[in-house]
Amino acid sequence: MQAEASDTDMNRYRDLSRTDPLTQLPNRRHFNERLGQWLAASEPLALLMVDVDHFKGYNDTLGHPAGDRCLRHVALALAAFERDDGVFCARYGGEEFALLLLGCAEPDIAGLADAVVHAVRGLGIPHPGRPDDLDVVTVSVGAFFYAEGALHSERLIDGADSALYLAKRRGRDRAVIHCGASRSAAA
Ligand code: GH3
Ligand code: MG
Ligand code: MG
Repeated sequence: MQAEASDTDMNRYRDLSRTDPLTQLPNRRHFNERLGQWLAASEPLALLMVDVDHFKGYNDTLGHPAGDRCLRHVALALAAFERDDGVFCARYGGEEFALLLLGCAEPDIAGLADAVVHAVRGLGIPHPGRPDDLDVVTVSVGAFFYAEGALHSERLIDGADSALYLAKRRGRDRAVIHCGASRSAAA
């Protein structure tokens, strides 16, 4: 009986240590575990880095509690894309989220990245502090994928980061996809 109780406690602590307390999404620790597992699977793998646009301005204008609520709404919208058989969603840190896609082809990745951008814009969360001509909360997405070949987590994350940088530079509220083999870009 005591052993059973302690197993339950262990599972609870394990879940807590892998969950982001603000959004209830898997946290960075859980993301790292899943990334390691899926890198070892030798299947095509994509990482989508999702970053809330002009979020500092959101906090500055509406306050951090409103910012926290906004992050929860965005997290819920992203969690809707999760699939047990190959889409994993986590809070990467701050106003950045990560989606890992196992076994997807490029058109599916591009479709999902665009759907993520569309879904967050569609929440219609007012963002009065933006310096551009939009007035709702949006995200930019940078994606990097390998169709085949040796995978390295740093390369995957660096690739998604540089695609995200381009999405920001091109005006935000959009996705940019890079392929590991050719590093060719597609908006
Ligand atoms: P960009 O479009 O280039 O991404 O601009 P940005 O303002 O979103 O980027 P920046 O890195 O300047 O600001 C990110 C902000 O996110 C600053 C930080 O206070 C806020 N932030 C990070 N984590 C949290 C959180 O848990 N809650 C709240 N309310 N704000 C957070
Ligand atoms: Mg950021
Ligand atoms: Mg941001």
